[in-house]
Amino acid sequence: MASKLQAALHDSPVLLALFDRHDRLRYANAAFCQAYDVAPDETLSWSELMRRNYQRCIGALIYTHDFEAWLVSARSRRGKQPYRAFEADLTDGRWIWMTEAMQPDGSMVCVATDMSELKVSERELRQARDMAQRAAQTDPLTSISNRSCIMRLFEQLLGRAEVTGMPLAVAIIDLDHFKQINDRLGHPAGDCVIIDFVQRIQPMLRPHDGFGRLGGEEFLLLLPGYSQSEAELSLRAMLASVEASRPLAEQPGFGYTCSAGFTMWLPGDDLAQVYARADIALYQAKATGRNTLCRH
Ligand code: GH3
Ligand code: MG
Ligand code: MG
Repeated sequence: MASKLQAALHDSPVLLALFDRHDRLRYANAAFCQAYDVAPDETLSWSELMRRNYQRCIGALIYTHDFEAWLVSARSRRGKQPYRAFEADLTDGRWIWMTEAMQPDGSMVCVATDMSELKVSERELRQARDMAQRAAQTDPLTSISNRSCIMRLFEQLLGRAEVTGMPLAVAIIDLDHFKQINDRLGHPAGDCVIIDFVQRIQPMLRPHDGFGRLGGEEFLLLLPGYSQSEAELSLRAMLASVEASRPLAEQPGFGYTCSAGFTMWLPGDDLAQVYARADIALYQAKATGRNTLCRH
């Protein structure tokens, strides 16, 4: 795991460097070497690196007519706090967000990401765009993925399964007799039940599982990597958790159930085929009395 991470970091677009407690460069990944014009295995000090950058007009863009004064000032801030983050310019026009994390032995880990595209003047626009993007992907009632977002993920996971051959379990879950819940207790109580359902399922998912609201009280679950029996076990546990839930404080005895249909992706399947099989399985689960799981 550690060597995998090391390899990934070495080739990552994130700039990564380690300076020892004497502020001598001990490690730099490819992106850092490229940005600051460091040769692999070069162990110059940070001050030497900055001086060289300044003289050659490469790497860090240093705005000063008096480099030595600049260096004193910069060194008075460098490594003084356990953690520091700031914006910096590179001579190639890139703008980076640099973080410096001090280690217990006095060494420093520097991690920087490129934020050239994130111009200050565009910050509000950027934030508005991020919010709009988030809203476009999120179901407003439950805050999980909305239909278009989960279907996009579905498409991606199918593509990945086709390439890797890794199993993918797909389930459609629908709440049982939900119309009756609405009719008996009112629409707001129905909303509470939908939210409760999501809160029940979410903690049972792994980070890479997909979970989205298709519409109304119908949900799609994408469980990559699970074998059929693992998926079945997991889905049964979800149904049991939902059945045990008592979501309405004003109706302490009230409970609800859901039905699920699931299928395993088969090589050559397209999205419509997988979806149709899960949907048929859901129909079977409803037909066999609800609060149950069926597989197609
Ligand atoms: P079944 O067990 O066969 O699934 O029966 P059902 O009553 O759940 O049937 P159906 O799926 O047709 O009913 C869905 C109902 O969900 C109809 C609609 O009024 C209600 N609904 C859809 N969206 C929402 C919502 O956001 N909030 C609430 N409270 N109700 C919703
Ligand atoms: Mg229903
Ligand atoms: Mg429904």
